[in-house]
Amino acid sequence: MAVAADTAYPKAVVDEFKRLAEECNICYQCGTCTSSCPSGRELYRGPRRLVRLILSGEIEAVLKSDDLWRCTECGTCTEVCRMDIDVASLLSRLRKLEHEYGGTIRCPERTAADVAAARLRKQPRIDNLRFGVAMMVEGHFPKDKVGAAESGMKIVKQMLPLGGKRAAGEAVPAARGTTTLPFYAGCALPQDHELHALVHEVAAGFGVRLDEAADAGCCGHPSRGTVDSLFSSAERVYTACPACDASLDETGVEAVPLWNALTERAARASGMVLRASTGSFVPYVGCLADRDAALAALGVAAQQAGVTMEVDYPTLHNGCCGALGGMYRGATKASTRLLEFAVEKHAPVVTTCVLCRDNLRSAARELKLDVPIRFWPEYFRAVEYAPEERTDD
Ligand code: SF4
Ligand code: SF4
Repeated sequence: MAVAADTAYPKAVVDEFKRLAEECNICYQCGTCTSSCPSGRELYRGPRRLVRLILSGEIEAVLKSDDLWRCTECGTCTEVCRMDIDVASLLSRLRKLEHEYGGTIRCPERTAADVAAARLRKQPRIDNLRFGVAMMVEGHFPKDKVGAAESGMKIVKQMLPLGGKRAAGEAVPAARGTTTLPFYAGCALPQDHELHALVHEVAAGFGVRLDEAADAGCCGHPSRGTVDSLFSSAERVYTACPACDASLDETGVEAVPLWNALTERAARASGMVLRASTGSFVPYVGCLADRDAALAALGVAAQQAGVTMEVDYPTLHNGCCGALGGMYRGATKASTRLLEFAVEKHAPVVTTCVLCRDNLRSAARELKLDVPIRFWPEYFRAVEYAPEERTDD
């Protein structure tokens, strides 16, 4: 299908649109990409409509679509397309084009990508406090003001002398430190000193010492590919964040969720069992994880801990948490339904992603739903297995 000449855009843009149209001219508009997209119901047009607009040469409409920036780059649309169209990479190329030649729209997601990229050029990691201030200077205020204020206060408190109980990354002695795993902490975790220390502590309970690369820097994800990751490793690394997994994998670093490794370890080790803090939970793995594997790992952990994992339909547990384009934009249809399901089951939500945890907490606050949201290490831990002593009488 020919791309209409659009004199408002330079030749480079028109040529790239021609190439994009050639690559997706076999699209028969089945809509599988949009219906499988974890953010699909929150998008205005969705990937199917964007492909349609590429084919009809609607350069302006495509480059001005906020959906380009709300895409979380999970890659699902590419995986499911029956015509083998690499939809996710088309969107990524469109974002690059918009960066270079668009420049007129300033949706919050696009602004967030710009701010993140600018910050990452000056420092190795995204710093939430300064990032939030920079966004407000650009006129974008947090949707969850209470949550933003709480996390801002926490960061400020940690910056004060004696403010944090334990310094981020400070070594926690392994209880049964038989194994050392290389650990990549990403941006979010090191900003919450207590949670960061808890991850080390919970791993230590499994007999694992986490060897953390302190200067690893950002994985590259928040900047939508405009800033490369500073981290490289020839060996497999363990992570606590699905966005880091996805981004590191793209740069050729083998990244494995730490939770999967700890669950496997509990299954293999004798004298160790998993304990959970309630009798049942609702799993949530977010859209960037390897979703089936992450759900399965949570199921194994539930089995080992002897608790019930409450599952409704699988996609309920991997929809968009509300962080469209990487920042919280309000409860989504998916997060609302997930939280309502947790209320029905009287169970906490347990997630493998710390960013999802915070976004779901914001959504619960917004919806006034009383649901505890726990990050994996806040819910599971390993304890020594002590078989009950037999009494013969
Ligand atoms: S899944 Fe593939 S063929 Fe179907 S609408 Fe999306 S891009 Fe087109
Ligand atoms: S990459 Fe994921 S979020 Fe982006 S359009 Fe495709 S399915 Fe949706």
